[in-house]
Amino acid sequence: MYLYDYHMHSLNSSDGRNSISDMCAKAIAAGLDEIAITDHFEPTRGNERYAYYKPDCYFFDMMKARAIFGTQLNIKSAIELGQPHLYPEYSLKLIESYPYDYVLASAHKMKGDIDFGDIVYDQDNKEEFCVRYLEELKALVEWNMFDCIGHLDLVKRYASKYGVIVNLMDYREQLEEIFKILINNGKGIEINTSGLRQQAKECLPGLEIVKFYRQLGGEIITVGSDAHCSEDVGKGVKEAVEIIKAAGFNYMTVYERRLPYAVRISGKSSSYNPAMKFA
Ligand SMILES: [Zn+2]
Ligand SMILES: [Zn+2]
Repeated sequence: MYLYDYHMHSLNSSDGRNSISDMCAKAIAAGLDEIAITDHFEPTRGNERYAYYKPDCYFFDMMKARAIFGTQLNIKSAIELGQPHLYPEYSLKLIESYPYDYVLASAHKMKGDIDFGDIVYDQDNKEEFCVRYLEELKALVEWNMFDCIGHLDLVKRYASKYGVIVNLMDYREQLEEIFKILINNGKGIEINTSGLRQQAKECLPGLEIVKFYRQLGGEIITVGSDAHCSEDVGKGVKEAVEIIKAAGFNYMTVYERRLPYAVRISGKSSSYNPAMKFA
């Protein structure tokens, strides 16, 4: 089976703990065929350039890793843009200036730079923050300069820390509107397996939302662990493939120079056929 992990952070992220080479070595040991290193570009007001992230260092590390591990592992250059719809100027400049294979976009923060991870969730405020999160997601999909949306139901991760259960299917109309824009634009979602290692105990998103995405015509879907250390590389990716299958997909997606390619998952074994490009 062709297995890959399309969401992980190296030392080029402020919260990453291992080098790109360490992540690659672990990916090979975990039996993966391909990875994408999605370090954070997380601008805020007054720090729109997000100086922490140094693309030249990232691409230098990438070049070294490819020289060492390139024959055993497909190593894709990628980035996780945090709220690029709020800070479009430098986010756009970055992805236009460097040869990224894959651009993941996430809504970590709401207007005013309040991080959804910094809220103390309870039963009384969960609706307010779900609605605010969905508003940010809508603005993000309207921005549309990415390839896939990261951890689509992120609020679930943070609310679950407080024992508060969030299901974005409770906001079906808003979610449908977001998916329709995304699908119409030819963009995709990821299944982020970090939730399996955290309190939510399920992927972000889980099967119900993935099925809904498929019903609405969604075709593009990737898999990522959101590892912030080499230890977590590849964790949960097989479970995510099972969700993708259960939702009725025959393919999952990988990227090269911002173009999606299909990886067959139907039947007994999966395979990567680079000739099978999505339109
Ligand atoms: Zn993220
Ligand atoms: Zn991430």
